[in-house]
Amino acid sequence: MRQVVLTAPKQFEVREVPVPEITETQVLIRVRAVGICGSDIHAYYGEHPFITCPVVLGHEATGEVVKTGKKVENIQPGDRVIYRPQKICGECSLCREGRYNVCKKLEVWGCQDTGASSEYYAVEKELVYKIPDHTGYGEGTIIEPLAVGVHAVKRGVSGVKGKKVWVIGAGTIGNVVAQSAKGLGAAAVMVTDVSDYKLEMAKKCGLDYPVNIKNEDAAQVMREKFGEDGADVVYECSANEKALNQALDIVRKGINIVIVGVYGNRAAVNLANVQDREYSLVGTLMYTEEDYLEAIGLVRGGKVDLKALISKEFPLEQTAEAYQYIEEHKDDVQKVILNVTAQ
Ligand SMILES: [Zn+2]
Ligand SMILES: [Zn+2]
Repeated sequence: MRQVVLTAPKQFEVREVPVPEITETQVLIRVRAVGICGSDIHAYYGEHPFITCPVVLGHEATGEVVKTGKKVENIQPGDRVIYRPQKICGECSLCREGRYNVCKKLEVWGCQDTGASSEYYAVEKELVYKIPDHTGYGEGTIIEPLAVGVHAVKRGVSGVKGKKVWVIGAGTIGNVVAQSAKGLGAAAVMVTDVSDYKLEMAKKCGLDYPVNIKNEDAAQVMREKFGEDGADVVYECSANEKALNQALDIVRKGINIVIVGVYGNRAAVNLANVQDREYSLVGTLMYTEEDYLEAIGLVRGGKVDLKALISKEFPLEQTAEAYQYIEEHKDDVQKVILNVTAQ
């Protein structure tokens, strides 16, 4: 089968490798679509601190089950599925607490170990989930980032129902955080960014108040739309220190601010305001199975629009072209999908 390897920064190679043999507890998936994620792009540039070449990327992948091991019960050949790319130890204190998304030995398939950029992929049965019938393979890959959104939303508030939510950043993660909040019952969501392309997409996804902060004042719009008390919770998805500091200046005292964006540098943050206004800065990483199932539930119930996020699709063999496209369209590209067709 064909497999795409990132052999060095900005160098992909299509290789011929054997179809993986599955164990009794594994499922063999004929891969149909692989989403390209922000972390893949960092790896592509050789700038990801925890991904080293050579690596087979692909942690957002859907496909069709073609074979199952003897001990696999709930998944059958023909099932349309997505996998959950978490490789955990199951034994550390965090795993025992159920917080295996921050397992002490956490690795991610497609980052620290072989991902799904290939025709077939073998996965442990507990990491495989059926996707809804009406969900295409391409949009289905976005269930993975959507689960990131669901987890983040829950880190910010115990129940988002009826809450007024501010999401900073309208990229894929900002968008799915906002859609998760809305899908889980938020009263209203404001999304800020500087890209009209991404804000237009947010609007298409039914998000209430997309605001371009190049033309509008976030504080003023927030007061207008949310009232004097403003947002009840903030999700910082832009990894932009200025945006975070602006939030610390303008939101009401005592609320939670969830750091979803991946900060490359050490941000200079106004901690005086955190202290004085009793803000809570909260981290969030990946998801658990429960979040995955909730994300699938949101898709099944038609509460989110993942298809709207797809900017462009390429065949797997054109992985290099796909990354080049992303490189050339930084401000007007959202999700790019690689489609896998068997030869
Ligand atoms: Zn990802
Ligand atoms: Zn662990």
